Amino acid sequence: MKREFPIDLLRLLYEKEISEDEAYKLESQGLVLLKNSTMQDIYNQFKIDNYEWTAIAGYGLMSEVSKWRYEGWPERCPLCKRRIIKEKFGWMHKPKYPHFSIVHISCDESYLKQIGYTEEEIADKK
Ligand SMILES: [Zn+2]
Repeated sequence: MKREFPIDLLRLLYEKEISEDEAYKLESQGLVLLKNSTMQDIYNQFKIDNYEWTAIAGYGLMSEVSKWRYEGWPERCPLCKRRIIKEKFGWMHKPKYPHFSIVHISCDESYLKQIGYTEEEIADKK
């Protein structure tokens, strides 16, 4: 079905008016129509805020993020069990633990190693 932008992508997905595949297709189509993509452009085009976009741009299962919008975001990091405040950032979306969740970046050793932290630096973060 042809849709006109702007569209509220996460709402359509949450209400099952579109499938996950359609959501990604619409996202691509909508991004192509943008000249540059600032956060304001993204918001205007898809009604997706910067927290939602950060989560989607990471491991991004859009349907999961759409559920968080309407049912609440994860409140605790599954690795350290401490609170996560989405407004403060410093988290990323991970597709396990055992479900999709957000974890503190500083808690994810494999990610820290991947971006070049040494064992000592990782130990210092704890
Ligand atoms: Zn944590």
